[in-house]
Amino acid sequence: MIKKRMLLNLDKLKIPKGKPIVFAERCKGCGLCIEYCPKQVLSFSDDYNEKGYHYPVIPPEKEGECIRCGFCRQVCPDFAIYVEDEN
Ligand code: SF4
Ligand code: SF4
Repeated sequence: MIKKRMLLNLDKLKIPKGKPIVFAERCKGCGLCIEYCPKQVLSFSDDYNEKGYHYPVIPPEKEGECIRCGFCRQVCPDFAIYVEDEN
């Protein structure tokens, strides 16, 4: 049986918590933030913004799962998303 590798000091590490904030009106619906999120926190809204695009939202079941890695902010070409520190 293969043992799962774990950090020896895992119990001492604090996992960062974040809250993604989306400027829906700036979004062009490219989906990069959704694609790059390692925790699959984001998905497309059912609604459209003023430009006619679906924008990212956090479904209720994904609330609190953001680890504040910042990938979504880094890949967004339109500066339409950032992440607040929830710790
Ligand atoms: S900060 Fe990281 S975990 Fe949080 S929504 Fe953005 S990509 Fe996902
Ligand atoms: S990366 Fe930016 S422009 Fe693309 S879907 Fe996400 S918020 Fe919208």
